[in-house]
Amino acid sequence: MQKPYVESSWSKKDPTLDVKLRPNTLDEFIGQEALRERLGVFVGAAKKRGDPLGHCILSGPPGLGKTTLAGIIAGQMGTQLVVTSGPAIDKAGDLAGILTNLQTGDVLFIDEIHRLNRAIEEYLYPAMEDFNLDIMLDSGPSARSVQVKLNQFTLVGATTRLGLLSSPLRTRFALACRIDYYPASELFEIVKRSSFVLNMVLEDSAAEEIAKRARGTPRICNNLLRWVRDYAEMRSSGPITRAVAMDALDMLAIDHLGLDELDKKILETIIDHYEGGPVGLQTLSASLGEEAHTLADVYEPYLIMQGLLKRGKRGREATSLAYQHLKGE
Ligand code: ADP
Repeated sequence: MQKPYVESSWSKKDPTLDVKLRPNTLDEFIGQEALRERLGVFVGAAKKRGDPLGHCILSGPPGLGKTTLAGIIAGQMGTQLVVTSGPAIDKAGDLAGILTNLQTGDVLFIDEIHRLNRAIEEYLYPAMEDFNLDIMLDSGPSARSVQVKLNQFTLVGATTRLGLLSSPLRTRFALACRIDYYPASELFEIVKRSSFVLNMVLEDSAAEEIAKRARGTPRICNNLLRWVRDYAEMRSSGPITRAVAMDALDMLAIDHLGLDELDKKILETIIDHYEGGPVGLQTLSASLGEEAHTLADVYEPYLIMQGLLKRGKRGREATSLAYQHLKGE
């Protein structure tokens, strides 16, 4: 099992996380007004009562701030954050190890919770509901179950596919929040904030260009911003203008809708190899040499939102907008 890690202070954390750019409080978290408000009430009420926070599930495409929110929740509650993911827990013993180490109020963040093995998921039910863990010792006739009392922890689950969560698991969350793609105006604010944190001098028009091409996703925003910074360091001097940002983004082959090479390849494959579709996900995945779940969770939602792709019972279809977009390039 990949080891879970503990965030004792959300601002001093694992080097693999983007420490500097991650907002630490709900006030620093840009956009998603309704969600911030709901979380503010949820966390505020628990704190006022002095209770551990109820379990909550965050759903939405990758890079929209689910891990960030889990960190913010732990920060607001003044407890530690323990991070793991569904696929990383492959034995019941792994889960038992994590749960028995949690202190009262700790936030356990399980990313990609829909990929948790069903047998392991069942251990979670009593743990979430009664803070009990029933561990089976041995197997066969000598098998016996031992009950371990857990500290009252908060489970924050994250998933890109809420629909794949079993209903017994879904109903055990007190609060379900969906995070949607961000509008360009909010991404603009995120680019401005990140450029400030990174000490970059960036014109507003350049920030707008980056926001426009970030496919509604803060993580992509920050990645593009860093790319523009590298490009500007090598190819220009002075403040970063819109022209510099555009040249940098063109070099990455990211078009004005934010589509990258793989997005375009997906649409081209459907149009050129399958007469526009419908084509099944598995066939498409084999043609492109990409994992089916990456296509379904990471790429398709944005293409669908842009009206370039349709997902139906018989498979994926390119829309007339997709034909226009590719021809117009
Ligand atoms: P997820 O867990 O949904 O994949 P993350 O929480 O890891 O996404 O967010 C990716 C990055 O995007 C973070 O490093 C953070 O800097 C940035 N980010 C996400 N949401 C916001 C937001 N609302 N405001 C500012 N930055 C954000």
